[in-house]
Amino acid sequence: MIPFRSFTRFTAQVTLSCSMFLVLSLISVVSGQSQQATDSRPNIVIIYSDDHAQHAISAYGSRINTTPAIDQLARDGVRFNNSFVANSICGPARATLLTGLHSHANGMTANNTRFRDDLPTFAKSLQASGYQTAMIGKWHIPTKPKGFDYWAIKRGGYYNSRFETPTGMEPSEGHITDVITERSVDWMRESSQQDRPFLIWISHSAVHRTWAPAGRHLDRYADGDIPEPASLHDDYQGRNPGASTAQMRVSRDLFPAYDLKLPVTGEGILDKAASGQLAQLTPQQRKRWDAAFSPRNEAFAKSGLSGRELTKWNYQRYIKNYLRCVDGIDESVASVRDFLAKNELADNTVVIYSSDQGFFLGDHGWYDKRWMYEESFRTPLIIHWPRVTAKPATSDHLVQNIDIAPTLLEMAGVERVDAMHGRSLVPILKDEQPSEWRKAVYYHYQMKEPPGRTSHLVAKHYGIRTARHKLVYFYEHDFWELYDLQQDPGELNNLYPDLESSDLVKQLKKQLTGLRVQYDDKSGRPL
Ligand code: CA
Repeated sequence: MIPFRSFTRFTAQVTLSCSMFLVLSLISVVSGQSQQATDSRPNIVIIYSDDHAQHAISAYGSRINTTPAIDQLARDGVRFNNSFVANSICGPARATLLTGLHSHANGMTANNTRFRDDLPTFAKSLQASGYQTAMIGKWHIPTKPKGFDYWAIKRGGYYNSRFETPTGMEPSEGHITDVITERSVDWMRESSQQDRPFLIWISHSAVHRTWAPAGRHLDRYADGDIPEPASLHDDYQGRNPGASTAQMRVSRDLFPAYDLKLPVTGEGILDKAASGQLAQLTPQQRKRWDAAFSPRNEAFAKSGLSGRELTKWNYQRYIKNYLRCVDGIDESVASVRDFLAKNELADNTVVIYSSDQGFFLGDHGWYDKRWMYEESFRTPLIIHWPRVTAKPATSDHLVQNIDIAPTLLEMAGVERVDAMHGRSLVPILKDEQPSEWRKAVYYHYQMKEPPGRTSHLVAKHYGIRTARHKLVYFYEHDFWELYDLQQDPGELNNLYPDLESSDLVKQLKKQLTGLRVQYDDKSGRPL
């Protein structure tokens, strides 16, 4: 058993107990009820994955895999069909989740910028209101977690990772998705014995690169091919100049050992990283790994593939490992819900499934994220609040990751923080048909990467998406793109050159300006 209850947490509780406990005891005596009976607020479990695209979830219509546990959650709860992020990249997505603010307002505009950890967050608010709180897994924010009684930050790769906790580093053995799940279940088991509700952010690091699946999943999808996306061989005609120069192509930017699990032959930084990751495996794990990849790699070495055929092979190798990691996440959702059901917690526990952003699964010839194109701009969002979520169980409202924090506050009965940009989704969950819902969402990607072989080099851009249209301004290139998502869901036909002077573009620019004023985003070149 992992000693997850930290000394810090004990200290905090002991300090709290002197005055608070007397008051709470008095209330219990006077009312004749236990505190549990008086505090019926729901437990909240956020299962958050990394880089898990909507189109790799069967409940969202995936044509390449099935996700039975996530699908079951979607059947039980509400699936948000139009769920987007504010900035499609790991650290900023987490900062937005915590604060309910767009990136420019929480400071974390990129993975390598500061985070304003003095701001209100859902964790701080729920902790202050009496919730037991925990964050376990990927953090990716430069400051230490605040608002969590217990936290354990993953430090390492997919196997046998270490965890940084308030009391020091702790080792682990096993696949990271399993380990994060086990630690989270352990924490919930102990917390459920207390008289206060709990909130846990289970923050998986899968299915992020380097897509190293668990041993039990290594042979899945071994036979046959995964269907290719229509735009695998995209030529980027009509798109911004940065589209063809971005370094995220399945055809040429997947690293042989690091990404594709081919033998390490080079001396580059990612070759060394790949060697280091293999060295982390136990002999038994390594044996299983080699049994899966060695014969496949030998067959590849003999194939002599090049050109389009090599791109197709790269895609298969990449997407199969990605989907194997998704299988691990789906099993985690099943394990968590199974634990809740067996411990009579399911009826009063909100379960949320989401990811920090979407991902290109060969779409536009890419892997990775960052762009405002649908595949990485969208993110899964499914919420099950037992006895509260109403049917029909899907929503087409335009929602965004700025909405999660205000939603959690309302679920917990905590006063809303006015400064948050987002809006509570609780009325949608209750099928109360909220009037005056937003007509458009705002997006701004602004990570500046140093030039180099391992950078993705995506141009900065901001834009607006309505129910039907998307207008994006790549301000570094002073280049606009416009899409009719009804006619062109794959976003291959940039309508801007033909419609630059149209009423449609004028209206969208006016709306975009309005959103930049509403959110007070003065960063980036004015439109
Ligand atoms: Ca991510």
